[in-house]
Amino acid sequence: MGENDPWDEERRQPASLPRSLWAQISPPAPPTARAVEDARVDVVIIGAGYTGLSAAIHLAQARVKIAVIEAAESGWGASGRNGGQVIPGLKIDPEDVLRVLGQERGKRIVEWAGAAPDLVFDLIRQFDIDCSPVRNGWIQPAYTKASLKIIESRCRQWQERGAPVEMLDRAKLPEILGTPKYVGAWIDRRAGSINPLAYCRGLAKAALDVGATIFTSTPAKTLTRNGNLWNVATPDALFTADHVIVATGAYCGDLVPGLRKTIAAVRLGEVATKPLNDEMLSKILPGRQPVSDWRRLLASFRITPDGRLMMGGTTASSGPETTAIRDSIHRAGRDLFGHFGALQWDYFWSGLFAVTTDKLPHLYEPQPNLLMALGCNGRGIALSTALGKVLAERVQGTAPQDLVLPVSALEPIPFHFLYPPSMAIMVGWKGIQDRIDRALS
Ligand SMILES: Cc1cc2nc3c(=O)[nH]c(=O)nc-3n(C[C@H](O)[C@H](O)[C@H](O)COP(=O)(O)OP(=O)(O)OC[C@H]3O[C@@H](n4cnc5c(N)ncnc54)[C@H](O)[C@@H]3O)c2cc1C
Repeated sequence: MGENDPWDEERRQPASLPRSLWAQISPPAPPTARAVEDARVDVVIIGAGYTGLSAAIHLAQARVKIAVIEAAESGWGASGRNGGQVIPGLKIDPEDVLRVLGQERGKRIVEWAGAAPDLVFDLIRQFDIDCSPVRNGWIQPAYTKASLKIIESRCRQWQERGAPVEMLDRAKLPEILGTPKYVGAWIDRRAGSINPLAYCRGLAKAALDVGATIFTSTPAKTLTRNGNLWNVATPDALFTADHVIVATGAYCGDLVPGLRKTIAAVRLGEVATKPLNDEMLSKILPGRQPVSDWRRLLASFRITPDGRLMMGGTTASSGPETTAIRDSIHRAGRDLFGHFGALQWDYFWSGLFAVTTDKLPHLYEPQPNLLMALGCNGRGIALSTALGKVLAERVQGTAPQDLVLPVSALEPIPFHFLYPPSMAIMVGWKGIQDRIDRALS
């Protein structure tokens, strides 16, 4: 219990947030309580991360009666643990999206995903969310010569679509990034960074302000059809609603049969140093852009609002084992920034994000008025916020064919039970390939 499960069944209490930098420096969550009385609402939303809270805001603004129920607290899941890099686009490149989804649908989705950061920064502005937003672009450097070709192609594809992106001058990269380790980079100026937990708590406050109700420490235990309605049972209250949105991300458990098997829940770690000295603060990312590099096992880094170096990544490890992830990010830190001397690490935490086999997010409606969306493949700040809006549109009657995302059939990943061990092997293999590529670069 704890890392993977928001609710401790034995002690009948919610799991607490991990000891993350964000938990330390974020403004408090708005006051909320657990549900103790039965209620009849229009829509029950299960899960108070970006997906659920964005859906709640968009529906409550249209005067729909909403109850959000969250097993732990707003932002307990990936939304309160992530790197805070607000990145446009999908995990796969525009031309691949068009190949998979066809010209018309593909073009719509590419445009939607490219504009998704606008929604994040608009909500922050509209509701005055105190989450240290900075919109100064996102840099993706290439760690190997092989990956340089990939990022050049990605940059070209977005340029052809009119996006404000460009390749950076290679000679200037050590100055821009604070490390000499990269062979090329592009910048996407639609992107930026935030404090992710503060953003999530701000969305919760915004949802309350526009009329939604949020119940925390309230796990949904069962979901049952009741004529044309839905019943959602929690330990001390029964909710009845016309619609249910399941917004439980990679922490979906077995509430909706089969949903868990549509994704691989991958563990990602984040580390943060003690506050940096003046020399490092002036030399590492002086432009303060967030960075995720391109290699098979990417390393991400940024400077936090309180002046620390924060890095993220994953490694070959299945199940709840996290030490290997922490050690591998520390190694990446030494490799990139060792020239400043030993890094003084202060925080390590981790969380799960939802990976799909086609690298696209999915929207499901397995029964009438039962909706869910997940699978942002590590791009969830902007995309989950945008998915919440799409879910709200569907509840308000937009026909499936008019939604930006198709409604997919809830199909399990074949041999899903094999994924934790096979993922560990695959990730280990990717690490080896990265080392070979680097040696050849
Ligand atoms: C370490 C890490 C770093 C990342 N970095 C980035 C980044 O820099 N940029 C980026 O764009 N994306 C990043 N991501 C991905 C991004 O955080 C996620 O895609 C996004 O937060 C998913 O939001 P969500 O609302 O769908 O799910 P979550 O935020 O996971 O929320 C799901 C919620 O559902 C609740 N829940 C589950 N079951 C129940 C139940 N039965 N009853 C009630 N509540 C329930 C959980 O408690 C949880 O709060 C990262 C993810 C991780 C883990």
